[in-house]
Amino acid sequence: MSVVVVGSLNMDVVVCASRRPRIGETIHGEEVYMVPGGKGANQAVASSRLGAKTTMIGAVGSDPFGETLRDALLKEGINIEALHSLPDQTTGVASILLAEGDNSIVVVPGANGLLTPKDVEGAREYIEAADILLLQLEIPIESVMIAAKIGRQAGTRVILNPAPAKELPKELLVNVDLLTPNESELQLLSGCSLDKMGLREAMQKLLEMGVKGVVTTLGADGAAILELGGEFKHLPGKKVVDVVDTTGAGDAFNAGLACALAEGKSLLEAVDFAGKTASLAITKLGAQAGMPVRSEVDKLDE
Ligand code: ADP
Repeated sequence: MSVVVVGSLNMDVVVCASRRPRIGETIHGEEVYMVPGGKGANQAVASSRLGAKTTMIGAVGSDPFGETLRDALLKEGINIEALHSLPDQTTGVASILLAEGDNSIVVVPGANGLLTPKDVEGAREYIEAADILLLQLEIPIESVMIAAKIGRQAGTRVILNPAPAKELPKELLVNVDLLTPNESELQLLSGCSLDKMGLREAMQKLLEMGVKGVVTTLGADGAAILELGGEFKHLPGKKVVDVVDTTGAGDAFNAGLACALAEGKSLLEAVDFAGKTASLAITKLGAQAGMPVRSEVDKLDE
């Protein structure tokens, strides 16, 4: 059972302050911490912890953040042979200010924005050998497109988590087996407001655009499934008593889905497994740090 992720890696620099500074003002913050992030790396870490042989294809800069992110993936047992370190470039950074109960974020893509289709082409063997290819949208769209094309040609099942949301070309969608939007991404991609049109109709629209299946995540309400020629299904969310941090819920869900499908589970079983994975991830602080290990997910069945 193997999963290959083609995507982003960021260093999240989180600064906590009692309030937001005004323009031109300097204030003292209370805490700073640096944690590995980026949707690609988050999903790779979760996938490895769930027991899948995981490969990460991506790019970091030739700076200390890049080194730290490489080491973090290595420690998780992830194959980083196809992780590029780009000379004279900076690693992706998300600068996050936590103040007054809200966050303000500036993301500088750095090396993530420089992962070329040629780089992806050069890592073709890993995509061809994997059971599942897991993609997001924090690297150039041309690189996402070539990865999906290689996956489709090789018979590797392609999952695209369309986050952060943007409009997608048809040439990409026709190579996607499963699209996994959340509700706002579904609205943007289908062009349907969910108030006016039902969830099922919006998902149907995405099938008409060329994808083979859609799994929409609905936060605490769980997830909905619609496949070509299949029935619309809704799986309710798991009850979580102490929600600590929902950052990375979607990443945990996608990794759970990928691992379960790589193991040969049905789509319905895989969505259930993904929901369990996400329900555990939100009980811990930090996107990557909060990803559960396999035994924790299996324990939920006992
Ligand atoms: P994103 O984080 O990408 O916006 P969602 O908010 O839809 O995605 O969450 C992804 C998945 O995480 C959901 O489908 C669900 O399984 C789980 N989840 C998120 N929030 C909750 C919650 N409050 N209670 C239970 N499960 C949740």
